Amino acid sequence: MIDREKIEEAVKLLLEGIGEDPGREGLKDTPARVARMYGEIFAGMDADASVPLAKVFSVESSEMVLEKDITFYSMCEHHLMPFYGKAHIAYIPEGKVAGLSKLARTVEIYAARLQIQERMTGQIADALMEHLAPGGVMVVLEAEHMCMTMRGVKKPGSRTVTVAVRGVFEDNPMLQERFFRMLRM
Ligand code: ZN
Repeated sequence: MIDREKIEEAVKLLLEGIGEDPGREGLKDTPARVARMYGEIFAGMDADASVPLAKVFSVESSEMVLEKDITFYSMCEHHLMPFYGKAHIAYIPEGKVAGLSKLARTVEIYAARLQIQERMTGQIADALMEHLAPGGVMVVLEAEHMCMTMRGVKKPGSRTVTVAVRGVFEDNPMLQERFFRMLRM
């Protein structure tokens, strides 16, 4: 559970730590405001990603389903800074498909936690494997990390791309190639 009081205390300390005065006019509501915002951006901590995938529809077809350009916003656990971008998810149904908005909801739940992009990519793939029992899943995430672009090496616009493959996608370069072709369409 999110403990807003603790977050408020921490933000006050943080402000002091950078040499600010948490009592000054512009900052006096900041700790409470940040605590409320954290409640929202970390709402996935308490959310179960299997819920949106529980409602499935029966299908005969086993043609690839691709949902691309799902926008997401997450927080890097190494720097507590945002990383954000697009998720692309493909799967080969074996009798079951999820409602399209449900894939976006699954991404949203995993994004609303402290994350590293590699783990989030795998979690999305594993959730689909578990709840839709498809022939295979492929997930690609492309994201800009503020901890990279705002400091240090400062490469604005540079994106990190991560891939997770499961099931029939694993040893099938042709299937993977088809996924990338469909992404470019
Ligand atoms: Zn980072």
